[in-house]
Amino acid sequence: MPPFSADSSVVERVETSPNFDERTGLARPDMIVLHYTGMQFSQDAIMRLCDPKARVSSHYVVVENGSIVQLVPEVKRAWHAGVSSWGGDADINSRSIGIEICNPGHEFGYPDFPARQIAAVITLCRSILTRNIVRPENIVAHSDVAPSRKQDPGEKFPWKRLAQSNIGLWVEPAPATNGPVLKLDDTGDKVTDLQKALTEYGYAIDTNGTYDATTRDAVMAFQRHFRPAKVDGITDVSTRETLRKLLVARELGPLQAAAGAKRPAPAPRVPKPPAGKGEPAAS
Ligand SMILES: [Zn+2]
Repeated sequence: MPPFSADSSVVERVETSPNFDERTGLARPDMIVLHYTGMQFSQDAIMRLCDPKARVSSHYVVVENGSIVQLVPEVKRAWHAGVSSWGGDADINSRSIGIEICNPGHEFGYPDFPARQIAAVITLCRSILTRNIVRPENIVAHSDVAPSRKQDPGEKFPWKRLAQSNIGLWVEPAPATNGPVLKLDDTGDKVTDLQKALTEYGYAIDTNGTYDATTRDAVMAFQRHFRPAKVDGITDVSTRETLRKLLVARELGPLQAAAGAKRPAPAPRVPKPPAGKGEPAAS
């Protein structure tokens, strides 16, 4: 593919990757997926994302010093999410823009993300949101859409900082308090309720009433993103309450959730009185 011009003025340079194809379904992406590269050197990561043999890519790479490189035009389908699912949709590459954030990751000591790199991620997301309609809850981690395979960008990624700049949905984590926990191999209605809530938010798990490995992995992904103080896959009171607040925030906004609002109960179904004979049909 010939060099293309960057989608945004925040891009410092374009390095063309051959690893993309056409989006299917939606005309425009409605998700942003954030990754870390998991490689020691940013230049190696960019080379790999442009290597036809690697068959992976992303739309953007944000280097540690804050510079932004574009590899694939936004209209094209980059190959960053792999086998993944969110909100019942398994073709995440078709509906998302992928951003690789240079960080060696858990395998190489997992350093903190530099402040200027995070500032660049925020600037880039803002720019993407001027061209694409993306709901806050659809700005997600790779680990959210592939919990059993991926842990990037990881629990050090400052989602709170992004939310303060109106990027993504986030609520203050509920405090840790003593109370019943749910963990691997537990069964019953409480597990079913948890699975329903996770599914409702977007995670791809079965609602089968058993706290299986898939459920644990989704809980860990949830914790990495929304309750990063303790990522153990055990649903404690704080994890459950943070998820509840998040579902409220998605519906009513973060301020209402912070004020302790509950979700409105579904309106009771009132049976319609039978229409009288000869009555005109309601318009
Ligand atoms: Zn990733």
